Amino acid sequence: MIRSRFKNLSIETKLQFINMATTGFALGLVLVFLTLHELWYQRETLLENLMADGRMIASNASAAVLFQDRDEATEILSALQASPAVTRAVIYLPDHKPFASYARDANLAAPAEGAVVTTHPPSLFPSALEFWQDIQVRDEKIGDLLIEADPHDLYRTLPRYLSIIAFSASIALLLAFLVLQRLKTAITAPLLNLTDLMRKVSRHKDYSLRSEVHSSDEVGSLAHCFNDMLEQIQHRDRSLREELSERRRAEEHLDRLAYYDTVTGLPNRHYFNERLAHIIGGANSFAERTALMFIDLDNFKIINDTLGHAVGDLLLQDVGGRLKALLRSGDYIFRIGGDEFAVILEKVEHPEDCMAVAEKIIQAFSTCFTLDQHQIFVGASIGISFCPDDATEAGTLLKNADTAMYSAKERGKNTFQFFQPEMKGRALNRLTLENNLRRALERSEFVLYYQPQFDLESGRITGMEALLRWSHPELGTVSPSEFIPIAEDSGLIVPLGEWVLRTACAQAAIWQAECAVPFVLGVNISGRQFKDDTVAEKVLQIVLETGMDPRLLELELTESTLMDGSGANMRKLMRLRAMGIRFSIDDFGTGYSSMSYLKRFPIATLKIDRSFIDGIPDNPEDVAITTAIIAVGKSLNLELLAEGVETREQAEYLRNNGCRHIQGNYFSKPLPANEASLLLLVSNGKPAVAETSATIS
Ligand code: C2E
Ligand code: MG
Ligand code: MG
Repeated sequence: MIRSRFKNLSIETKLQFINMATTGFALGLVLVFLTLHELWYQRETLLENLMADGRMIASNASAAVLFQDRDEATEILSALQASPAVTRAVIYLPDHKPFASYARDANLAAPAEGAVVTTHPPSLFPSALEFWQDIQVRDEKIGDLLIEADPHDLYRTLPRYLSIIAFSASIALLLAFLVLQRLKTAITAPLLNLTDLMRKVSRHKDYSLRSEVHSSDEVGSLAHCFNDMLEQIQHRDRSLREELSERRRAEEHLDRLAYYDTVTGLPNRHYFNERLAHIIGGANSFAERTALMFIDLDNFKIINDTLGHAVGDLLLQDVGGRLKALLRSGDYIFRIGGDEFAVILEKVEHPEDCMAVAEKIIQAFSTCFTLDQHQIFVGASIGISFCPDDATEAGTLLKNADTAMYSAKERGKNTFQFFQPEMKGRALNRLTLENNLRRALERSEFVLYYQPQFDLESGRITGMEALLRWSHPELGTVSPSEFIPIAEDSGLIVPLGEWVLRTACAQAAIWQAECAVPFVLGVNISGRQFKDDTVAEKVLQIVLETGMDPRLLELELTESTLMDGSGANMRKLMRLRAMGIRFSIDDFGTGYSSMSYLKRFPIATLKIDRSFIDGIPDNPEDVAITTAIIAVGKSLNLELLAEGVETREQAEYLRNNGCRHIQGNYFSKPLPANEASLLLLVSNGKPAVAETSATIS
């Protein structure tokens, strides 16, 4: 209890207590020691006096004892009256019988004759002090002298002595207390300073604080240790902070990577999914209309393939920038795929409001992008769907916007479409087509049609283009423009293209054997098919297998296929060209036309796309483009063939402007092989379109 109470006292009080206790104890010891010493000293002095008296009396009384003069002996003893401390003196004869005696107090009885005096037992405070002295005559003992003294006078002086010492000790204790009072701050002040500092450190977490070290004693080394500890904590705190901010930076970076697209800096698909689900999942989402715009760049792949990925990335960045610039702050924009962007507009009152945004986006694409010194025009196809009108679930809403975007693409690109429920059927159709397409080759559902190409000068058939047809037992005849893109996406185009080439070559070999006048066989080769590393070997193998004259085979490639920057294309082209195979550029004018590659690649023919032929001779733009293509072809010494000629005016215009070769429904639609054979047979050597030719000429 006392111990625990002592423990809880302040160091200052403890110090005071310990010091006062030890000082008090020391003073007490001194007091006891001095008192005992005084007692001993007084007693010794008394004894010495007794001894001196005893020797003197013994010497004076020796004659009286020798001569048995009792009176003389008593007389001598009475001299002791001069010594006030002596209370009694007795001379004993050798037989221990008292001979003479003296007593200060008359009441004190003289020892009885023959009584033996017993000595007092030793004690700290004896009631009497005794001194024995031999009485001798010439060294012969003739009696004993006993002198007794009363020490009580001596004892009486002790209390006074004690009180003087005690008083001095108290003064000393008081002085010690006062001195301690002053000195203790020298010890406690640094400790209090340390405590204060510790409190500040723990309250403000400021580990840069340091204690002042004033001494090299224990408190000084405690302050040193404390400072060292603070130094270490500060160091650890700093590295912990650095580690923490490093981790925070890493987390932010990861977060950015997880939620933002590195190319455009826009939120990515992951972010989009979360945001859309959040918006649609919101309590009021069905009370307010949310619009989702799915934006897909037109012909992005061509740019990527021809100008490289770095330019493609620059384009995506610019597109992202343009889209961001035209949207309001509350609208969200994301890059959700390669060339796909999504915009979420909240609280759309009328679908027409959304139309204005879509038009603004289309408008934003009307100016060209300048990328790495290239001037590029890129369009955007936009599909729009609304929540809750078209879907109330994020996945379906996105699918619907995607379907609407496809519809916009089908409608000629660079436009927008609102989702319509009937579009779903078309999207489903695409899925069904893909599934059926996989089995169509095995089930021999494909057939080849052949569309003749004519020379307007001679009126003769100069070529046949093999065109693929798919007759599905339930779906009926499916157009290649519907299934070729699907076959390309799924990779099925490679075996399918091989089948086309083999079938067309086999057919052409038969025709060549029958026909007197040779003609060229045009076979479409898709970009994906030409990318195949073994395409050249496959073509050559098929040519060999079928017995086709390679000089009469013309492979139709698109601009985008040729523009794939890799040198592999050139090697394939040169390899096939070395065997005599020709190349034409299909749909010329619709792709990214860089004239330089016309010079580099071994191209024989430019096939002017039917979209330009369609507008001649009335549409001045189509006329201008067609005339320009013809001029380029002529200057590069290339053959020119116009596709999709449907009218007499078109044929006339082309002929007058130097395009000799044409292909189109005006002269002949694509025909099944047997009908094409018949046409060839009929026109064998003769002008097949003599009448028309004559009319034109
Ligand atoms: P293309 O190679 O440009 O073929 C010409 C297309 O124009 C054919 O369409 C043909 O029927 C059509 N056409 C010809 N004359 C006229 C006309 O006067 N008016 C109109 N409106 N159209 C005309 P088709 O057969 O539907 O083929 C479309 C496209 O599908 C082809 O365009 C070609 O790119 C692709 N294709 C067809 N067969 C194959 C094939 O075996 N392999 C590959 N890779 N693609 C093919
Ligand atoms: Mg073609
Ligand atoms: Mg074409």
